[in-house]
Amino acid sequence: MKEKKTTQGRVFLTRFAYGKDLLKSLQAFVEVNNIKAGFFFLIGAVTHAKVGYYNKEKNVYKTIEINAQQMEITNSSGNISLKDGKPFVHAHITLGDSEGKAFGGHLQEGTIVFAAEAYIQELVGREFERVFDPQTKLNLWEA
Ligand code: ZN
Repeated sequence: MKEKKTTQGRVFLTRFAYGKDLLKSLQAFVEVNNIKAGFFFLIGAVTHAKVGYYNKEKNVYKTIEINAQQMEITNSSGNISLKDGKPFVHAHITLGDSEGKAFGGHLQEGTIVFAAEAYIQELVGREFERVFDPQTKLNLWEA
């Protein structure tokens, strides 16, 4: 097992623009700022959502599309690591509807920002490269 110790690098607070794709905005931000490892928290609201649910029998993500006028991002969190040598965002999201009911999943492209404020923490000292894991059929960090 590799040493997993990291130290804190840069800290970013940022807001993603109205009408933009949330996952693409996150991905663009980490690429522009060359963040190779880290994690983030984010709150706000979206006008449309697409989340994934991993079907472990079929080894594919089922896409769940949610159309609503507005949903609160009660929480979105995730991590940043390397995939094919490039910064890669893995994000999950929990949304609340007008009744306060929550649902969520693996954040996919197609989730559209109404407002989004993010805290992004860079980690330095070790890079985390995603590699294919035969057991789950997912690209995971090396154990
Ligand atoms: Zn996921």
